Amino acid sequence: MGYHSWFQCARGCPGRHSIYEVIYRCPTCGGLLDVHHDEEALKSRSAAAWMQLFDQRLHTNAWPYGSGVWGKKEWVCPSVDDSNIVSMYEGHSNLFWAERLGKELGVSDLWIKLCGNSHTGSFKDLGMTVLVSVVRQMRAMGKAIPAIACASTGDTSAALAAYCAAADIPAIVFLPRGKVSAAQLIQPIANNALVLALDTDFDGCMKIVQEVTARENIYLANSMNSLRIEGQKTVGIEIVQQFDWEVPDWIVIPVGNLGNVSALGRGLLLMRELGLISRLPRLVCAQSAKANPLYLSYLTGFQDFRPIQAQTTLASAIQIGNPVSYERAVKVLRQFEGIVEQATEDELANAAARGDRTGMYCCPHTGVALAALFKLLERGEIKPQDRVVVISTAHGLKFTDFKVGYHTGKLDEVSARYANPPIELPPDVGQVRDAIARELDRRYPQTRPEKV
Ligand SMILES: *Cc1c(COP(=O)(O)O)cnc(C)c1O
Ligand SMILES: [Zn+2]
Repeated sequence: MGYHSWFQCARGCPGRHSIYEVIYRCPTCGGLLDVHHDEEALKSRSAAAWMQLFDQRLHTNAWPYGSGVWGKKEWVCPSVDDSNIVSMYEGHSNLFWAERLGKELGVSDLWIKLCGNSHTGSFKDLGMTVLVSVVRQMRAMGKAIPAIACASTGDTSAALAAYCAAADIPAIVFLPRGKVSAAQLIQPIANNALVLALDTDFDGCMKIVQEVTARENIYLANSMNSLRIEGQKTVGIEIVQQFDWEVPDWIVIPVGNLGNVSALGRGLLLMRELGLISRLPRLVCAQSAKANPLYLSYLTGFQDFRPIQAQTTLASAIQIGNPVSYERAVKVLRQFEGIVEQATEDELANAAARGDRTGMYCCPHTGVALAALFKLLERGEIKPQDRVVVISTAHGLKFTDFKVGYHTGKLDEVSARYANPPIELPPDVGQVRDAIARELDRRYPQTRPEKV
């Protein structure tokens, strides 16, 4: 087929490096590396032919194209052998019309991309399938890579552990002790990863994992490694494909380390380069106000960037003060007329609950994105007729403590406007009927049926 990709400095230094080389930073400037594709080769197939090929693969289970990521293999990682691919048929997550919430907000073309409906419950699976496949190929080539490691706010480690377990490759995960949810902690434990819980935050774990992997030939799986970005970039492509190759007006995404928004941008830019689309959506990055270095930089027109000490936030997967992909993300945001918004604890928790009342089951990060959407609608920046996609990054079931805390009114700095605690009653029909009548009257005063 002749499709080919390689690592190249994201800041533009000359030199190419094999994706099967253990290298994370540019040897010239120390900046991050991006994966580049031979776009001339990709252009030898027409836009229409690519669309037809990708559509056709939606309906197959043939290895490895049944995966949403590997269904776009030529654009993601063309040189890996199919036999080395480690996939659990990630991707193809549903993009659904949020009719009721949209109606409430006055934006009728509102859609939610449920990236949390995935094997380990977050979009991190999309990147991890690529990274672990490349490592499997390197090991097959005889490279001595004893293990793969990552620092994580919970979801990266769950994905790494699952894909490594599927491939029988040792995984080591570094977690900030007490700062990930119980569900996130138990995932890598169940998948038999070596789980190291360190008394620090994510940024502290990141520092240590970089030092450990620099020495021991252990492969680093954090998103500074752009192989993950390649897998994650299929989200933007998939959204457009799900709209029959039409580009939405806005995509709202919660961001922390800034790998995912960089990936989203790269996928859409590649589509434009290859002629599948002719315009770009606008991107909105949503941050927690407790961990908002991108937002602060945005306020300076990206002139100034300062890492911060991230404070504790309910949106724990984006509690990051020193995002590794800052430069990549700013490059993307400039091309997509990007906006950055932030949400307080109160705003994100109530936004998630408001979504839940319309049938969703939002993780706190999705709450951050919804809160940002509410603000942009209020400001009139997003217009009622616009088509808007909100990226839901993880499954709400991973964040039971957040949900329980909300509905029992126990979250710090949150006034739970939509709390719906269970009503505890003795097993007495009379009291049960009274309670039902009272609650229906209180909750739905206008639709109350006449007493019989
Ligand atoms: C990782 C993660 C994010 C943030 O993605 P970045 O690439 O770090 O910006 C958002 N939400 C969830 C649920 C995540 O796991
Ligand atoms: Zn460089």
